[in-house]
Amino acid sequence: MTKQNVVVPEAMAISVAAVANSSPLFTYPPPRSGFGAGVAGGFALKINAWVESMKASSPTHAKAAAALAAAPSVGAQEEHATWIMRHPSALSKFEQIISASREKQIVMFLDYDGTLSPIVDDPDSAFMSEAMRDAVRNLARYFPTAIVSGRCRDKVYKFVKLAELYYAGSHGMDIKGPARGPRYRKAKAKSVLFQPASDFLPMITEVYNVLFEKTKSTPGAKVENNKFCVSVHYRCVDEKSWSVLAEQVKSVLKEYPKLRLTQGRKVLEIRPTIKWDKGKALEFLLESLGFADCNDVLPVYIGDDRTDEDAFKVLRDRGQGFGILVSKFPKETNASYSLREPSEVMDFLLRLVEWKRLSLKARPRVSIGI
Ligand SMILES: [Mg+2]
Repeated sequence: MTKQNVVVPEAMAISVAAVANSSPLFTYPPPRSGFGAGVAGGFALKINAWVESMKASSPTHAKAAAALAAAPSVGAQEEHATWIMRHPSALSKFEQIISASREKQIVMFLDYDGTLSPIVDDPDSAFMSEAMRDAVRNLARYFPTAIVSGRCRDKVYKFVKLAELYYAGSHGMDIKGPARGPRYRKAKAKSVLFQPASDFLPMITEVYNVLFEKTKSTPGAKVENNKFCVSVHYRCVDEKSWSVLAEQVKSVLKEYPKLRLTQGRKVLEIRPTIKWDKGKALEFLLESLGFADCNDVLPVYIGDDRTDEDAFKVLRDRGQGFGILVSKFPKETNASYSLREPSEVMDFLLRLVEWKRLSLKARPRVSIGI
């Protein structure tokens, strides 16, 4: 187990790799160390390690709740201070971010759960506030804005309800441009509708149905069909049943070698093995907006989950733009900056809008956005 995993309860479950006979249960992100690193010990050992990690990461677990409520130890404070130096608050470094955008078009990419909305027990109740919706609406007036989510595109649209945005659902495997005409496109931009995993649709539906039936016997388990991936939420499952749930998922997944399992915050996700993720979706959207191979663009991606790391890494590798991780705790990340929670994300978006509004006011002849 990495030091980071000790510090961050939510991250503990992520590096667990339980290995099925023919197809790996947790193939992505690749296990780094500790109980997720090896195959030796077999599935039972992996399941036990998984259960132990989940005890610490469950929001309903008494020990975890007590640990979060207690004052952080001196060691934890020092670790957090070191981490903040490496990933400073995007609010405290706002001017630095703005100065990097000089002569460039900022393009905003926003994860949904845990970024625009709080993480809640019932994934169907992860509503964003009206204030946040207003902030995102205003953001999209000044910058091309995309929502990039693991959820099904239709479902995340129902939460956000803003027709002027780009939406990349199912971890970027279902991308659609704004229903309301965008004004930011460059001349070479193209209209957007992209579904790289469309061949998998029948298989995903089948797996959803099988998993739905299979996990009925596990109280609290919630299976969600996200069109191009299936999510098994366990945040409401009693920890005594986690190993059973893992076995159930494993027994289904081993019949589908073309699917793989990944793990997010309190959720197992089954998705196609194609090489497509939120990072690829970011690149695709930049290209669709006409910003491929451009130096005059500054992509900013805000997200809270492991799956957002693919996008952070793309930005880091391109040496272009910034990733902003939403987290109260130190986590290993490719993001440049951090924000503690959705309320800080909203503050950051509001500042961005206000800065742009004032800068346009100061230069009234400059056209909006570009
Ligand atoms: Mg998220």
